Amino acid sequence: MTAPHVELAARDLAVVWHPCTQMHDHSFVPMLPIAGAQGAWLHGHDGRHYLDAVSSWWTCLLGHRHPRIVAALKDQLDRLDHVMLAGFTHEPAIELAEELVRIAPRAAGDSRRLGRVFYADNGSAAIEVALKLSFHYWRNCGEHRRTRFVALTGSYHGETLGALAVTDVPLYRATYAALLLEPLFVPSPDTWDAAPGEDADACAARRLGELRALLERHAGEVCAVLIEPLVQCAGGMRMHAASYLGGLRALCDEFAVHLIADEIAVGFGRTGTLFACEQGHIVPDFLCLSKGLTGGTLPLSAVLTTDAVYAAFYADYASGKAFLHSHSYTGNPLACRAAVATLAVLREEPVLERNRVLAAQLAARLAPLREHPHIADVRQTGMIAALELARDRRTREPFPAAERRGLRVYRHGLEHGVVLRPLGNVVYFMPPYCITPAEIDLMVEVASAGIERAVA
Ligand SMILES: *Cc1c(COP(=O)(O)O)cnc(C)c1O
Repeated sequence: MTAPHVELAARDLAVVWHPCTQMHDHSFVPMLPIAGAQGAWLHGHDGRHYLDAVSSWWTCLLGHRHPRIVAALKDQLDRLDHVMLAGFTHEPAIELAEELVRIAPRAAGDSRRLGRVFYADNGSAAIEVALKLSFHYWRNCGEHRRTRFVALTGSYHGETLGALAVTDVPLYRATYAALLLEPLFVPSPDTWDAAPGEDADACAARRLGELRALLERHAGEVCAVLIEPLVQCAGGMRMHAASYLGGLRALCDEFAVHLIADEIAVGFGRTGTLFACEQGHIVPDFLCLSKGLTGGTLPLSAVLTTDAVYAAFYADYASGKAFLHSHSYTGNPLACRAAVATLAVLREEPVLERNRVLAAQLAARLAPLREHPHIADVRQTGMIAALELARDRRTREPFPAAERRGLRVYRHGLEHGVVLRPLGNVVYFMPPYCITPAEIDLMVEVASAGIERAVA
């Protein structure tokens, strides 16, 4: 008789097409059927437990099946499953919007208020909404020449065609280039690409100079600049100085273009503050949220925008200024209720304080790896840490992508009960906030041993 997990894997591989996967890999990498999860752990049908060191693609903020989220969802299921959000509303959508507006970034001396919430159902859709809203805002203001977007090199904003267009990860983008909008890419301030001896703030200042030059060249053509504040995640966990954000906000104001902050991955405490924008003391014109918003239970996204943007669409129907964008599941009650419960935990429990202790522990455990001959960089921002594997630490010569060193770390991790999913040569940690110090130790030990095997 075949073991249940083997049978499930075979049935899966006969019919399911998996995301971001060359399915052929599963001719030698096992497919892992998961039966359940609790806290930081996934429970395999193989009877083994796996520490979810990447929070299931960064969604599972507080740990799997958080009791407060589970209870809220069960209660919601007994009341209202779904209703379209056009012409109708419901308590979860209202409460969530109220809470998002309440906690949204604010900055002294900036009167901008993120007072409006537009819902969608995944991160890419939120980016599409922000792009369309920004473009449409300028049209409604009579500025028809504004058709361009500025994005940073190394950025990742999703996989639908609009979001992919403003993404600069060739692995995902290059194939589809002929189909995509052409944004203006400016060099990212990420410290990995800093000049020798240049610190993060100096690098940020130099990159702001390049952005200024670009905005001068394209004055009046640009709708918005997009940024993943503090950490470019899918692009390889590249990190930059918070000072870049203040400079970016000032340039966007000077050239009258919108600032779109994509906090889909870094929102809700990941970087040490509730929102990464807070560390730059900025209020964006659009704030895109998803992933951790529902604590990793259901797909949902939200785009927060300013009262000023909202006002540019508010007019008599005949003016043709309305934002006629929708998704069938916009503002789904179950997803909103899960998000309300997630935000209640963040509000009522000392989550950020606990994260500071956990982040310090993670930093201490990673410190010895700075001396490793094949680790060229150890970087961390709050509850995100990354190790950059390289053939030679001093020259930073990378391992050729075709050698797939990261895949070896992944396989080692699974053999030893830890889910690590390196981005090429970048091994990273983005654990759920419920992780314990002992689990952090385990995660780093297994990753270290995996790296030893992978670089051999
Ligand atoms: C994941 C991600 C997206 C896309 O979200 P999906 O829900 O996967 O479509 C966009 N931006 C950032 C920064 C992300 O990390």
